[in-house]
Amino acid sequence: MKIVFATNNKHKLEEIRHLVNSRFTLISLRDINLMEDIPEDHLTLEENALFKARYIFKKSGIPTFADDTGLEIAALNNKPGVFSARYAGEEKDDQANMNKVLEELGNTGNRAARFRTVIAFVWDTDKEKLFEGIVTGKIGTGKKGNRGFGYDPLFTPDGYSLTFAEMPLDLKNSISHRYRAFQKFSTFLNNEFITTNKNA
Ligand code: IMP
Repeated sequence: MKIVFATNNKHKLEEIRHLVNSRFTLISLRDINLMEDIPEDHLTLEENALFKARYIFKKSGIPTFADDTGLEIAALNNKPGVFSARYAGEEKDDQANMNKVLEELGNTGNRAARFRTVIAFVWDTDKEKLFEGIVTGKIGTGKKGNRGFGYDPLFTPDGYSLTFAEMPLDLKNSISHRYRAFQKFSTFLNNEFITTNKNA
């Protein structure tokens, strides 16, 4: 059974591919020739993910899931949150985004933060489910490391002394917010979904 991952990000596709049962074939937007930019202008991660999944399901008729991620910083009232990609402007500039966060935090003692990923799965007009993955940690006072992407140089997950940008990618990918959301989603697909959709 085909399932669309509403992304064209190859890394994300690879990250989840090996978690799902071989009865499922994960395909990307490129595979179904949908190359348009889907708006991500809602006010929550849940709404963004649901909008994308519903939109692609409507166009393709194929069960679809979509993800959205944000960095939620306690002392900034959970900002940048849903605005993480464009926090410092439309250019989606990682360095500018991190600088803005560091500036806003100043020398605030409360550095608690979490990455949160939401996955929305839509497999029929009235069949939808959300999955969430969270990793908690702390925001540093400067950038450390050059692996990964986004806010990785600022974020040290709880229980570790390295930022996401300092640790090997494999380690990050085994504890990350996205991995945790993918785990929950793939467990649902491989069990409940297969059982209730016998043609899968
Ligand atoms: P997306 O929903 O996966 O596109 O993520 C939105 C934004 O959140 C990205 O543009 C990054 O700024 C940030 N982000 C998402 N995942 C990560 C991560 O694993 N590390 C660092 N930043 C991330």
